[in-house]
Amino acid sequence: MTSIHLTAGGAYAKGMEAMRLSFFFKNPGNEDAAFCAAFIAATKHYAWADQHNVPTKSWASIILGIDFYMRAFPLATEKYKPFLHKDRPTVEFSFALPISVNHPETGQPLLYHGRMDQIVKDTEMLLSDDKTTSSLGQNFRDRWRLEGQFTGYVWGTHQFGLPVKGVLVRAMSFQKSGLQKESFIVYRSGWMIKEWLVSTIHTINEMIHYWKMNEFPSNLSTSCNAYGGCDFLNSCESENPEIWLPGNFVRRRWNPVLQKEEDVVGD
Ligand code: SF4
Repeated sequence: MTSIHLTAGGAYAKGMEAMRLSFFFKNPGNEDAAFCAAFIAATKHYAWADQHNVPTKSWASIILGIDFYMRAFPLATEKYKPFLHKDRPTVEFSFALPISVNHPETGQPLLYHGRMDQIVKDTEMLLSDDKTTSSLGQNFRDRWRLEGQFTGYVWGTHQFGLPVKGVLVRAMSFQKSGLQKESFIVYRSGWMIKEWLVSTIHTINEMIHYWKMNEFPSNLSTSCNAYGGCDFLNSCESENPEIWLPGNFVRRRWNPVLQKEEDVVGD
């Protein structure tokens, strides 16, 4: 079962994508059409998930959040507009680029894949990332100061020759007491991107080493309880977690390039 936190975040992201594509490209300047597009996209993504008893992650909360965003950051006066790359809007812009480590079996370059909410341009070019969270403030802002995902995405856009300087974070906090918003920019300089690349290549080589040794160290830390708790928590409480997996899970492989899950056949 998909985590309600991921489902709600995904519904919000789908709504925001549809809203921007509608307002800036399909029905330029029409806020009602933009809200309708967002409503439909978020609702389709949410589907069955409203059976969960988490009020701040309900379907209604997500729709209210999109409405709140449109009031807080009016599209008509938005200065960070989606950038057109080769005449195509960079809303939900994705890439898959070789990262100078080869696959240990095929020898083909491994691909680093990224998918960002949009690339925007005002006086400078930035990535724009929508975040949903339970609380805002300094702690929340500090989380993104060195965040590797942002740095990797900036690296990715640079491979297309785009002079992206950093990330505009548009955050929405869903609390029982109501909705709150925050908007701020974090920058990435050349040395930070270089450091990210070295660290990422190091991590990939470590993963290959573990794979060759058939040893997979557990992450016994905050990951076990992140995003509402890891799905494998019950299995990992067992001395032999593998025996619990076949009866409780179906093996699927996430294809980041095609953005879909695939059946695992024969391995
Ligand atoms: S519960 Fe298990 S699989 Fe999940 S993060 Fe923790 S150690 Fe890793």
